[in-house]
Amino acid sequence: MRSILKVLVSSRFYILAVLGISLYLAINQLHISLWWVLLAGVIMGIIFGKVFCRWVCPMGLIMEIMMSLSPDGKTRQMYQYHKIGCPIAWISGYLNKFSLFRIRLNESSCITCGKCDKQCYIVAMEPQKYSLYKSELNNPGSSYTCSKCLQCVASCPNGSLNYNVHNKI
Ligand code: SF4
Ligand code: SF4
Repeated sequence: MRSILKVLVSSRFYILAVLGISLYLAINQLHISLWWVLLAGVIMGIIFGKVFCRWVCPMGLIMEIMMSLSPDGKTRQMYQYHKIGCPIAWISGYLNKFSLFRIRLNESSCITCGKCDKQCYIVAMEPQKYSLYKSELNNPGSSYTCSKCLQCVASCPNGSLNYNVHNKI
């Protein structure tokens, strides 16, 4: 399961490219209503949290390409990602706290190496406020801004971070 997640995370940009272009074509060629897209984004948000932006969204694809062309300020731009005025981002960002799948830490196996935090743009912006493994700080995976890149989970050397069904509301 973990190896599948690692492959998905390392291929995320290509998955976003395929799904983003497919969605764009579906909206334009098949005239699929944006209301259906909104509904799908919300359902995905309930199950997985804010995955739409970085795994499915055509606008997300364009933004990632733009960011790759201007590496300076990349983190800042990524952090601003949710502020473009998309209702799917608003709703599913809020759902990060309540979604079925969430990022969880197994504290007993964590060796506090900090590799997860180094992968996270939310921690990079506010290291005094967020951490994936420091219990005194907030979990960035539950924050509005986390768009489930899952790089934190994939980077953990011993599987202490997981993205799976959360059994507590
Ligand atoms: S999935 Fe992990 S690394 Fe990515 S933004 Fe969320 S908490 Fe940070
Ligand atoms: S990468 Fe894994 S082991 Fe290292 S601090 Fe993060 S959760 Fe703990």
